[in-house]
Amino acid sequence: MEKIKIILAGPRGKMGMEALKLIKETEHFELVAAIDRKNGGKMISEIDGLPAYDAPIYEDVDLCFQEIQADVLVDLTTPEIGRKHTEAAIKYGIRPVVGTTGFNEVELLELAKTAEQKGIGVIIAPNFAIGAVLMMKFAQMASKYFPDIEIIEQHHDQKLDAPSGTAIKTAELISKVRQQKDQGHPNEKETITGARGSKINGMHIHSVRLPGLVAHQEVLFGGNGQLLTIRHDSLHRSSFMSGVKLAVEAIMKIDILVYGLENIIE
Ligand code: NAP
Repeated sequence: MEKIKIILAGPRGKMGMEALKLIKETEHFELVAAIDRKNGGKMISEIDGLPAYDAPIYEDVDLCFQEIQADVLVDLTTPEIGRKHTEAAIKYGIRPVVGTTGFNEVELLELAKTAEQKGIGVIIAPNFAIGAVLMMKFAQMASKYFPDIEIIEQHHDQKLDAPSGTAIKTAELISKVRQQKDQGHPNEKETITGARGSKINGMHIHSVRLPGLVAHQEVLFGGNGQLLTIRHDSLHRSSFMSGVKLAVEAIMKIDILVYGLENIIE
């Protein structure tokens, strides 16, 4: 099998370091370069704490895409930078697998249009953990019978975007099948702004940020005399890597933008 040549953006990050391990352990993956905002001109192997890879680090994204022949960009950086990297990768014909969260609907539509024009695959997955994808699917199933829903997402306190991409994606999936409903009392008033969290299509989303947490989500369903809770916990960032592997393999066979891992697993 021919190796899939990968450029990794964000190699020093918590997700990036897990991705480096994944690439090393996967026989048909090859790291050809990394994009970072530090250490341009050095090799990955020269950076303390990173594996002994003879792959160059670039700070200039365009230069990296011009000089390095690659199949896939894996982006695990920050919302603003991730968007720029994704647009540049599409321009240079390198397929982006994006784990970076924080893309809004307009940005996704624009990227989908550009990907279609260029005939290039893009995968953006707000959650690469298979268990989280199942949690979203089960929540969508339950919402047909329980339209009163509150989502509580919990993440580490270094997360930049809120609510999480997973919470937004869950609400979007639920909205496809749930009868539209504005929940709570019609005269409800917040005495402190934000007390009821944010809202998507009438569903409330609450974002908790604490050190010690990784990525956790509960979807609470209320009914007459009963409650249902569907919960997923990512306890370590390694939980996301089987999804990253699936996405890197799948992107070689698609030529449109796919949003959400659930669209590439059975
Ligand atoms: P992190 O540890 O803060 O890592 C982000 C990395 O991006 C850092 O090394 C940061 O460098 C680097 N970076 C910042 N600006 C950059 C630039 N201009 N060029 C290249 N690299 C740059 O965060 P994380 O926990 O690994 O998460 C990374 C992203 O993945 C976040 O958007 C997070 O929400 C997302 N995430 C997705 C999933 C999923 O399943 N899809 C799961 C978990 C997390 P510095 O250290 O210099 O700031």
